[in-house]
Amino acid sequence: MTNRLKRFLRPVIQMVDSDYFPEGAEVVRSQPERFDVSRSIPFIILHVGCLGVIWTGWSWAAVITAAVLYGVRMFAITGFYHRYFCHRAYLTSRVSQFFFALLGLTAVQRGPLWWASVHRHHHAHSDEESDAHSPVAKGFLWSHVGWLTSSKNFPTDYRLVRDLTKFPELIFLNRFDIIGPILLAVFLAVLGGLLQTFAPSLGTNAWQMIVWGFFISTTLLFHGTCSVNSFAHTLGSKRFDDGDESRNSFILALITLGEGWHNNHHHYQSSARQGFYWWEIDLSYYVIRALGALGIVWGIRTVPARVYEKAASLRSVIR
Ligand SMILES: [Zn+2]
Ligand SMILES: [Zn+2]
Repeated sequence: MTNRLKRFLRPVIQMVDSDYFPEGAEVVRSQPERFDVSRSIPFIILHVGCLGVIWTGWSWAAVITAAVLYGVRMFAITGFYHRYFCHRAYLTSRVSQFFFALLGLTAVQRGPLWWASVHRHHHAHSDEESDAHSPVAKGFLWSHVGWLTSSKNFPTDYRLVRDLTKFPELIFLNRFDIIGPILLAVFLAVLGGLLQTFAPSLGTNAWQMIVWGFFISTTLLFHGTCSVNSFAHTLGSKRFDDGDESRNSFILALITLGEGWHNNHHHYQSSARQGFYWWEIDLSYYVIRALGALGIVWGIRTVPARVYEKAASLRSVIR
């Protein structure tokens, strides 16, 4: 195989096997950070796919499916990928953990170990030069989407997630994360086909369901998640000054089911609760509590008294 053909095929093979690095992942990670056309192709496909709506049109069934999938998968990202896999803010069984990871894959944001490794590095080096997605160090657009197009950021740094690499099933899902998008697309095609046959009055079909449930819902979900890297380090208020630019934002908290309380979270990372007060709406935390009430998760970590005391003392200083 010629080198040119190998270079062309590499991103295609990596779509199936995200641990495919013939020269070694370490070599790829040591490259300079730069825009890479081949790495931007999945994001272009995702956005261009939304234009399919020109041909498929819309129906209430398709729009509601897209909205439900946004909510469920945003929770999978914030409640499972972020608060569980990255921060271990609560405990669960090995079987539940597997299904949390599988549901997370359908968000089309790669595997839980890659997600957690990038995010743990972000907390360790927030808004420093090595932070992959800092709007302060690298500009807003780079922090929102640019960093994802750099090959340097593609390999999973397994050294940062040693607690998770104990589980071979998680390594498998992380490596073959394409399983998630395939499951989602097949589910939507079957759902659309069944509704077209058995409930034709709903006016939907397989292609319409794929355009709304896969492309439009996933694109909105993508930008919602990315906004935590970009907007949550630029817009909003700072309760704690810990040397980074993380912010709290009510609007962002609604869009991301609670991740908008990003300054709170940077200050105390291991809490499952990111909205520290009742008026800081944090839908993911309420769902985690509901999962706790059902016995699916336990050992839910919350905000310790000393953090509330610090917040109160800062408030009195500001007044
Ligand atoms: Zn942050
Ligand atoms: Zn975090």
